[in-house]
Amino acid sequence: MSELTWNHLSILQKEVFTILENSFSQNRLSHAYLFEGYRGTKKKATAELFAMRLLCLHPKIESRPCGMCPSCKNASEDVHPNLFWIRPDGETIKKDQMKKILAEFSKTALLHQPRICVIVDAHKMNTESANTMLKFMEEPTADAYFVLITEQVDAMIKTILSRTQVLHFKPIARQILTKELRAIGVSERLCLLIPEYTNDFDSAVELANHPMYIEMVDFANTLYIKALAKKESLLLLSKSKKELILSSNETFDFFITMLLVLQKDVYHMKKHLPSLVVDTIDIELITQLAKRSSQSMIEELLQQMLELKSRLRYHINQSLAFDNLIMHLERGLQYGI
Ligand SMILES: [Zn+2]
Repeated sequence: MSELTWNHLSILQKEVFTILENSFSQNRLSHAYLFEGYRGTKKKATAELFAMRLLCLHPKIESRPCGMCPSCKNASEDVHPNLFWIRPDGETIKKDQMKKILAEFSKTALLHQPRICVIVDAHKMNTESANTMLKFMEEPTADAYFVLITEQVDAMIKTILSRTQVLHFKPIARQILTKELRAIGVSERLCLLIPEYTNDFDSAVELANHPMYIEMVDFANTLYIKALAKKESLLLLSKSKKELILSSNETFDFFITMLLVLQKDVYHMKKHLPSLVVDTIDIELITQLAKRSSQSMIEELLQQMLELKSRLRYHINQSLAFDNLIMHLERGLQYGI
């Protein structure tokens, strides 16, 4: 499943990994963890590594799984007999699902290794399944571990919450995400710009590899290049991309965000704050545009983009909004009016 290593994840979620490593090395593991945090913060991959570490036949000195032994391999391919995953069956995690897995748990293990149960979307446990789990936890079953995963910690059943050690997964920092994208060979501009749109690791990788999103990043940049050159109508230029950009609310939102990044870059350059410029690839372009535009025009364009972004939540005429946006860009950047 996971292609990420313990090392990688320890960079993405430093605090969580420090806690886990210390617990392993001091032999003070909790029997129930709750991994809590936004989507794309690597909770599942961490649960998988946690299981690997517990099952690993030759763990490394620094309390990490070896990643090579049959146990590690089986755990990472989700075929280890001692590793169980529970996911909601429809809207809830039902009592029967819990009972079935816990029955497996109680059987004499074929392999004398710890048993781990990972519960995905744990806030979807109903009271009955929560009680089933709690009852199981009260019995002195050696070597059983639970990892509960949730994006909605507030919706967790309180009795469960109080019995777990909560580990908070933070949104992944922009610079780290940029570095990670670089490491997998994503082009430099995308590495810089995509983390401005999302801090969800998996979405960022998906967007960086999606031709449609790559095209939109390039086109936003093209618009600024053409605006500087003053030779072509931006409105005409954008006609061929309009359908692509307006194909969904998300694509439109993404495109506006890319324009916003560039416009903010121009703003920061105007303010003599080059260290805040995000798209540093074409710094000359940003510098020239900043020189040519007035402060008030730069701010006005920024304001329009921000407003449009917030209006996307409502039913608006997107075609008209798109034309307006490009027209403003043309007037502002190209003619300064
Ligand atoms: Zn191993």
